[in-house]
Amino acid sequence: MKYPAGPAPVLPDRFAGRPVISPTCTGGACAGCGDLCPSGALQPQMIEGKASLRIDTGKCLFCRACENACPNAAVKFSGEYRLAAASREDLLVGSGSEAFAPALVERARKVFGRSLKLRQVSAGGCNACEADCNVLGTPAWDMGRFGISFVASPRHADALLITGPVTANMRLALLKTYQALAEPRIVIAVGACAISGGAYAGHDEVCGGASEVVPVDLFIPGCPPHPLTILDGLLRLIGRGDLA
Ligand code: SF4
Ligand code: SF4
Repeated sequence: MKYPAGPAPVLPDRFAGRPVISPTCTGGACAGCGDLCPSGALQPQMIEGKASLRIDTGKCLFCRACENACPNAAVKFSGEYRLAAASREDLLVGSGSEAFAPALVERARKVFGRSLKLRQVSAGGCNACEADCNVLGTPAWDMGRFGISFVASPRHADALLITGPVTANMRLALLKTYQALAEPRIVIAVGACAISGGAYAGHDEVCGGASEVVPVDLFIPGCPPHPLTILDGLLRLIGRGDLA
């Protein structure tokens, strides 16, 4: 694979990347998407006095129900895989906010240079996010060539990579793992669950994502995120200058 020095791999047509909301959006007045969003990701907004919608990609399950239901073709999921952001606000995508993730976490670039050791905590998700993280260790993706790898102990890690909404049973384990990392440490939330609770948000036995327990530095949206989306976020974190 030549990426990132060469072009990114071609993703299948069914891939749902960064959403685009067009000015034809009525803000819900047409009742096209109404209450159908399963995760509360569709939010009203006003743009220059006109009602529209925005999508919180930190909550979105990328199920495309809103795209399929819209009578105005106002919602489209693009092939843009670059979704990672350093703040929750940067995950809100509406009409007029088509730019993808800005530069990430300057602090991390300075401290960790060009390698990153990750301790992963699976905090109660469905295992799909973990599977896509595992894919990055296979020969095709080979994230080890960038100095990025998973390690067995938080004592050996620069960063904590969290998947799942953080169940009540995992809350203490996550906190202890975080505290076991030497400072400075980075926290990465991968997937809608880890960012916002995702499909489990509001359940009595889960937190609303990792940031209710530990401070999060990098958010990587998706349900699950494509391996390319995860890798793009990690490479931005360590400041690969050859990324578009
Ligand atoms: S694609 Fe995202 S915003 Fe649209 S209905 Fe599904 S979860 Fe909600
Ligand atoms: S974000 Fe989606 S894929 Fe990841 S753990 Fe949650 S439900 Fe599973």
